[in-house]
Amino acid sequence: MTTRRQFVQSLPAFAVAANMLDTDTAAAAPAPVAPAAGHFHPKGKPPSEFTKAVLRKAKQALPFDDTRDFDEQRRGLIAPIKDLTIKNDAGDVVWDMTRFQFLDQADEFDTVHPSMHRIGKLNNNYGLYEVIPGIYQVRGLDLAQTTFVRGKTGWIVFDCLVTADAMRTAWKLFQEHKGEGLPVTAVVYSHSHGDHWGGVRGVVDEADVRAGKVQVLAPRDFMDYSISENVFAGNAMNRRLFYQYGVLLPVGPYGYVTQGLGHAISRGTSGLIAPTRVVEKDIEEIEVDGVRMIFQNTPNTEAPSEMNTYIPDMKALWIAENVSATLHNIYTLRGALVRDALNWSKYINEALYRFGQEAVVMFGAHHWPRWGNDRVQEILRGQRDLYAHFNNQVLHLANQGVTVNQIHNVYELPKSLQQRWDCRGYHGSVPHNARAVVNRYLGYWDCNPATLIPLSPEDSAPLYVEMMGGAEKILAKARQLHDTGDYMLASEILDKLVHAEPKNQVAKDLLADVFEQIGYQQENPGLRNSFLAGAYELREGIPEGASPKSSGPDVIRAMSTELFLDFLGVRMDSRKAEGMRFTINLITPDNGEKFAVELENATLTNLPGFLAAKPDLTLTINRKDLEQTMIGAKTLEAQIKDGTAKVEGDVSILAKLAATMVDFDPRFEILPGTRGQEKVVHADAYEAVPGKSIPE
Ligand SMILES: [Zn+2]
Repeated sequence: MTTRRQFVQSLPAFAVAANMLDTDTAAAAPAPVAPAAGHFHPKGKPPSEFTKAVLRKAKQALPFDDTRDFDEQRRGLIAPIKDLTIKNDAGDVVWDMTRFQFLDQADEFDTVHPSMHRIGKLNNNYGLYEVIPGIYQVRGLDLAQTTFVRGKTGWIVFDCLVTADAMRTAWKLFQEHKGEGLPVTAVVYSHSHGDHWGGVRGVVDEADVRAGKVQVLAPRDFMDYSISENVFAGNAMNRRLFYQYGVLLPVGPYGYVTQGLGHAISRGTSGLIAPTRVVEKDIEEIEVDGVRMIFQNTPNTEAPSEMNTYIPDMKALWIAENVSATLHNIYTLRGALVRDALNWSKYINEALYRFGQEAVVMFGAHHWPRWGNDRVQEILRGQRDLYAHFNNQVLHLANQGVTVNQIHNVYELPKSLQQRWDCRGYHGSVPHNARAVVNRYLGYWDCNPATLIPLSPEDSAPLYVEMMGGAEKILAKARQLHDTGDYMLASEILDKLVHAEPKNQVAKDLLADVFEQIGYQQENPGLRNSFLAGAYELREGIPEGASPKSSGPDVIRAMSTELFLDFLGVRMDSRKAEGMRFTINLITPDNGEKFAVELENATLTNLPGFLAAKPDLTLTINRKDLEQTMIGAKTLEAQIKDGTAKVEGDVSILAKLAATMVDFDPRFEILPGTRGQEKVVHADAYEAVPGKSIPE
């Protein structure tokens, strides 16, 4: 069995401070079950008989005799990637497939849902594949994949993985087999999520883009959304990723299994080269390096900015991430605006009617292609109906009074969609997507006055605990519920106890055991990871250590000045700005922008295109110089001192404003009593520190 020390040292993503190893707070109380042999954590438990029964039942109910996905996933393999571990020039591991080999070494695991095991095995594809002659994909090297389409004079790249190192590896493999030594002539970004553009610098030199040798195409509003979706709530999203993506969980049958869309996210730096050609029209035909392409903008679907591409001369349909081999997220657990399922369905339907009548192959940004027109139509129809059904039938129920707090226990997909593998919940799940649709239309409130302005959990919990007769009674009942497999009920009362007594490690350990069994039972990686991450933090606390650095300079440079100023309003602690009042005119001559910035009522606002008549301060700085401050390379003070920035008026205002800015803690507590002694990395007052651009 792994010792606690070995386990903590083996944490995949983060170093842990040594003092955590000496603070074992586990009380000497009877655990319901002995620790599991082979589990990564000393407190980890094996699956219960109830959990095993749930998994057995699931296996019987699902169409495992339909193995077409496996045929399609294997089809067209040109060369596997020989190295299971990919390192960058500095010797750091950027991608590691060795971790996922266990998935192929057993027919089943009693801690992994059989359907999740299935998608995990499918995600073990790892190599260069032919889609049709002239179209090739490198799969399994990142969460998403990259595709190369033969142009007249070179290669048109559809999507560029998350990091430059992963993308370089893909390009090298491709050149060894099919690239003919020809250059990249164009890049097409399918949409605004980071796993589709972050690796662009691994395959394209920006100088070639500037010189007009490489065209970069993107859907309407791409630049706005590639950044803005993750700025305002970026720190919270990064923290929540620890749950959805199971950042701290070791890979294995007791921990992280796969992410559904792909195994994981490659490590390293992401970059962004701005598009040279934005596809503005709904439908637009453009010849790209001699290849006719029909672009279909599909805004507000899987991403706020996304587009499909049809190549009529090859009868090949690039379906971006609008269709993959899974039910996708209508709501993404790391946090995002709820997506429009009906709109999404309509764009799939349009692709079906516009291109799907003749397409002989459909390929996308994740998973494997579909060959033959019948199969293309079958998948498009299934996916169209999947999202439409969510929208229509959740609202059907909501119109009969089913609330956001009930819908996930009431709503079901029709049997025909339940039996389709491409509609199984490997990214979205039926329960969390159903709640999302209610939330989109009706918001978070279930219309019960008791939940309208509820007490905070920590404020209501002590009364519950008192009324239930105290901790011992709750623990006894929870153990009983645990032992009869009633995990949701056990979770309900233990959650109250843990909120009332955050230091009660016995309660936290029992809740962890309950979360763990619920986690093992999930088909959906986001749900599994969230329960297992909760169990992990309840047992271990939140590990200390270096937190992931925020976005690279490319991403911050792509932020508009307005978004930057808006974000300063989020970073400002208004309690520190009480009583302050001033007006600043900000002028950035090199791009011709101007802003009226006001601090009043402890609130920072800005208005682009306007200047105040009597400002307290006028700050003039070129946007390209302001970027040095935004990325943290040079303070605003230094810019003023050396004359790069010009000021007129009361310059002391800037120091006052700077003093109101707060650094966000990337490890805030989610579950009670789990907080470590995290030291927050300090950012310069005017540094833009949005969350990483988050892949999906
Ligand atoms: Zn993606």
